[in-house]
Amino acid sequence: MKIILTVGHSILKTGSCTSADGRPYGGVLEYAYNKNIVNRVAEYLRGVGHKVDVLICPELQFKRSTDEKAYKLQRVNSGGYDLAVELHLNASALHNARGCESLYKTEKGKKIAQQVQNRLATVFRNRGIQKRDNLYMLNSTKSTTVMLETFFCDSSADCALAEKKDVALLIAEGIHGGTITCGPQEGGDPAPSGMLYRVQTGAFTIWKNAEKMKAELQKKGFRDAFITTADLGQLFYRVQVGAFSVKANAEAMKKKLQKAGFDAVIVRA
Ligand SMILES: [Zn+2]
Repeated sequence: MKIILTVGHSILKTGSCTSADGRPYGGVLEYAYNKNIVNRVAEYLRGVGHKVDVLICPELQFKRSTDEKAYKLQRVNSGGYDLAVELHLNASALHNARGCESLYKTEKGKKIAQQVQNRLATVFRNRGIQKRDNLYMLNSTKSTTVMLETFFCDSSADCALAEKKDVALLIAEGIHGGTITCGPQEGGDPAPSGMLYRVQTGAFTIWKNAEKMKAELQKKGFRDAFITTADLGQLFYRVQVGAFSVKANAEAMKKKLQKAGFDAVIVRA
């Protein structure tokens, strides 16, 4: 299958994130969690022969959350995909709900939603699949589309379960419709569930400085350099090149960057 994995939500120009934030309740930031695991899901699926693209909205560019819709739909609908899967996490008003849900609109979507739901429900409380007519990713995409509310980001109990299990593998197996035995674990020293080794060349409190470093990297041939944000009480703009599930690959990139004169470190996130 030709698949696109999309991460729900974005970080707006103002620095605020449009997703649910479970951190005040002992949980996780929905957007950050999904952004962290999406490449791992993709690697598992590629390992069993699917062609997979990952779509994450640009950070610090959109003025409002509705800008995400146009950005994603244009790319999803022009890519000739058989399947789109958008990653979300749930949240509840009283921060006391738990479990997994998979959303679909079409019959084909229902089949995939059920497959993923079956895998997720081996770990999380099973809230079932749901047919939804009021979500643009389900309404306005040409491909079969499924949206996953993998667990509740504001439930510390759900987040503790997610920490112990390879959630990316569950999602990949659900999409694939069968067990996956090869994937990011091969090649030794895998990052724990959803964690990636990122090679970082700088962290700045001023956006322009991060931009300058990114431009320098790109000039020297590191075309994949990107900026991510980290909210550590103060917002940091981190310049990174690559996100790897196998540490040896991150080490190789670090050496390459150091040779080119950059002060590279490996960070796990
Ligand atoms: Zn969401």
